[in-house]
Amino acid sequence: MVDYVIVGAGAAGCVLANRLSEDRDVSVTLLEAGGADWHPFYHMPAGFAKMTKGIGSWGWDTTPQRHMNGRVLRYTQAKVIGGGSTINAQIYTRGNALDYDAWAQEEGCEGWSYREVLAYFKRAEDNQRFVDDYHSYGGPLGVSMPISPLPICDAYFRAAQEMGIPYNHDVNGARQEGVGFYQLTQRNARRSSAAGAYLDPVRDRPNLTVRTDALATRIVVENGRAVGVEIATGGAAATMLRAEREVLIASGAIGSPKLLLQSGIGPADHLKAAGVPAIHDLPGVGANLQDHLDLFVIAECTGDHTYDNVAKLHRTLWAGLQYLLFRQGPVASSLFETGGFWYADANARSPDIQFHLGLGSGIEAGVARMKNPGVTINSAYLRPRTRGTVRLAGADPRAAPLIDPNYWSDPWDRHQSIAGLRIAREILRQKAFAPFILAERLPGADKASDDDLFEYGCRHAKTDHHPVGTCRMGHDQDAVVTPDLRVRGIEGLRVCDASIMPKIVSSNTNAPTIMIGEKASDMVRGREALPAVRLGANRADAGARPGSRESAG
Ligand SMILES: Cc1cc2nc3c(=O)[nH]c(=O)nc-3n(C[C@H](O)[C@H](O)[C@H](O)COP(=O)(O)OP(=O)(O)OC[C@H]3O[C@@H](n4cnc5c(N)ncnc54)[C@H](O)[C@@H]3O)c2cc1C
Repeated sequence: MVDYVIVGAGAAGCVLANRLSEDRDVSVTLLEAGGADWHPFYHMPAGFAKMTKGIGSWGWDTTPQRHMNGRVLRYTQAKVIGGGSTINAQIYTRGNALDYDAWAQEEGCEGWSYREVLAYFKRAEDNQRFVDDYHSYGGPLGVSMPISPLPICDAYFRAAQEMGIPYNHDVNGARQEGVGFYQLTQRNARRSSAAGAYLDPVRDRPNLTVRTDALATRIVVENGRAVGVEIATGGAAATMLRAEREVLIASGAIGSPKLLLQSGIGPADHLKAAGVPAIHDLPGVGANLQDHLDLFVIAECTGDHTYDNVAKLHRTLWAGLQYLLFRQGPVASSLFETGGFWYADANARSPDIQFHLGLGSGIEAGVARMKNPGVTINSAYLRPRTRGTVRLAGADPRAAPLIDPNYWSDPWDRHQSIAGLRIAREILRQKAFAPFILAERLPGADKASDDDLFEYGCRHAKTDHHPVGTCRMGHDQDAVVTPDLRVRGIEGLRVCDASIMPKIVSSNTNAPTIMIGEKASDMVRGREALPAVRLGANRADAGARPGSRESAG
């Protein structure tokens, strides 16, 4: 028996384990289905290139996507200590201030406005460079500037500015729009995962137990209260771990609804169909799945302008040496450290497209690799109207879930995705890129019509790995948790991870999830929320737009 059982040692779970075990009078057990982060690839920034290709993940796919010609997409989700923060591209972005203000004002999630959550972003971070209204240092999470950019990154910045997209030195600061270097979850040229940042420094706390290879198969509910979880370890019979105070689910936007459903908490009709005895009819569990779908342009370079050639043996050896001796070079690059935000819809309330400049081709699984060095610009539409689902394939807790992001079911999303792809392509065609680019290879210059680009998208689009929303917070009948993250209708049970977002944020999702873990920990401990950060007025909509005076294009 322990006080708190946390299920899932991902981005949020590690934060919770650290913060809750600060109180020496309570005992905390953190359960993780995956293994330890022993492999060096987890710690080297460039190890990301291996991450979507099998290591540390569940190996899931989507269901056939009805609005994408039936395509099944690979759906990488982490299964390792640190969760997504151990296998992600380390891009540190927070979204737009208006995302959080919408949670508070439109979704009824009191306490989650931008100024209120900003205090938690700041508590988490140990920023290498910025200290201002938006940033801080001294927190657990290393946040650093890229170490190994290449001249082609500057070409990208110049090209974007030629199109009227401004340069932005901090997309997490006063303005989100513009291109620039991202900051990365790294410290001293090593990945700063939630496990490295929040768990490693406190492993010796006697009141904290971390169990890897421990799959929670069911939340045990007695008389309307969660009293523990059933755990399967290896081939052994399931054991039960009781929680005196609370069970905290932090299994991610796919894993958390899956675990609730396996436990009989979810839409009664689906549970019946799946053969799981229902104990609490909660229709919203597993609904409201949102994700960022990614389209990309790949060009072949005129020379060795990216890191593609590092794959050659002698270059790999030199890169390894460079990293070991100097903490520099290709291995210190996450390969996606340059990017930015802009508008597909000039009237959107805030930027609705995100770009990533990939310093190579074929970096992620399923993405084509050029024979000669290539460069990639990814674009993702940030505020999809589409909603998908996570469902059970059956009653076996070890079976893969049915993940249906339902991409492009809303034609608006398809339209905006294609508009974003066109902007990415336009950036590559600017004068500043000319010395670096031989020719666009994908989609290919001959693919010009919307129909061509739709077909291209159906064949090549990929997830940006940002599922959220499947246990969304709110007060209505379809909300799964209330804004204090308690599961509606069950005592002693909260969900604290990316799944609670009512609407997806306009960026990558790791930093927002770490913020959720920080804020959740204060809620669970019964502490007062941090005071909201005071900012000047109108910070959110001060930026440039297509066609605005500040925009040159
Ligand atoms: C390949 C990839 C690249 C990404 N790139 C970026 C990026 O560059 N920047 C960014 O901001 N975001 C990125 N993300 C997204 C980001 O990492 C996630 O949003 C974040 O990790 C979500 O945190 P979470 O705590 O909700 O879930 P996760 O981090 O996924 O953690 C959930 C954990 O729970 C465990 N678990 C699940 N079910 C059970 C169970 N039944 N029993 C025990 N344990 C269980 C899982 O194994 C996992 O470790 C990326 C994600 C991926 C997968």
